[in-house]
Amino acid sequence: MSGGLQRVGDDGPERCAFCSNEAAGPCASCRRSVCGNCCTLTEGSMKTWAICLECDRKKGRSLRSAWLGFGGFFLAILAALAAAVGLLGWLSSR
Ligand SMILES: [Zn+2]
Ligand SMILES: [Zn+2]
Repeated sequence: MSGGLQRVGDDGPERCAFCSNEAAGPCASCRRSVCGNCCTLTEGSMKTWAICLECDRKKGRSLRSAWLGFGGFFLAILAALAAAVGLLGWLSSR
């Protein structure tokens, strides 16, 4: 036994950008090398994409805000319709 540290050569396998595991492949979004534990597989229409944790988090947040925006828009339309119906009902009942 000589030395406790394991030397990793420059020509060794590519390392994951998030942990020290061997990288399995690049993230489909930011092209960073990620291992199997640090990426999520996204089923595409033709291909399965590997998305790193950071891009997955970002995508999730943007999706959620898009849904929130859509929900708010939808609720605003519903409220406007309800107000219009209420106004018409109030006008016709007078
Ligand atoms: Zn990793
Ligand atoms: Zn990424």
